[in-house]
Amino acid sequence: MRKQKNLVICPVCHSPMGLEKGRFGFYYRCLNYPQCKTNHSADAQGIPLGFPADEKTRHARSALHRLLKKVWNYKIKEERKKMYDWLEQNSKYGHVSMMDHEEVVKVIVKVKALIKKATQ
Ligand SMILES: [Zn+2]
Repeated sequence: MRKQKNLVICPVCHSPMGLEKGRFGFYYRCLNYPQCKTNHSADAQGIPLGFPADEKTRHARSALHRLLKKVWNYKIKEERKKMYDWLEQNSKYGHVSMMDHEEVVKVIVKVKALIKKATQ
C-alpha cells in the first residue's frame, strides 16, 4: 500500500480503503479484499475520482472498457479523442470511472449499436 492522505471508507462494507496502483492508474481497494471487491479510482495524488464501484459495477465498467477498445481497434472512431467526444455526448459523465451501474449498462447498449452499425 502507498502512503495516502485521504481516508476513504468502503461504501459496501465500511472498511477503510487503501491506495493502490493498477493497470489503469491509481485506485482505492477495500482493505477487506478479497471478501469485498469494491474499488474506487483515484488520481496520482490519491484524490478519489468518480464513484466507487461494487463488484457488479466493476464488471460492467470492464465490459464497457473492452467495447471501447474494440471501437478503437476497428477504427470506428479513428482517434481516441473522437471516441471520448462520442462518449461525452452519449453519457451523463463522459468517463467510465464516473458512471454508476445503470449508466454503464445504458452506454454499453449504445456502444454495441455503434459497433454493429460500423461493421455491417
Ligand atoms: Zn468493502
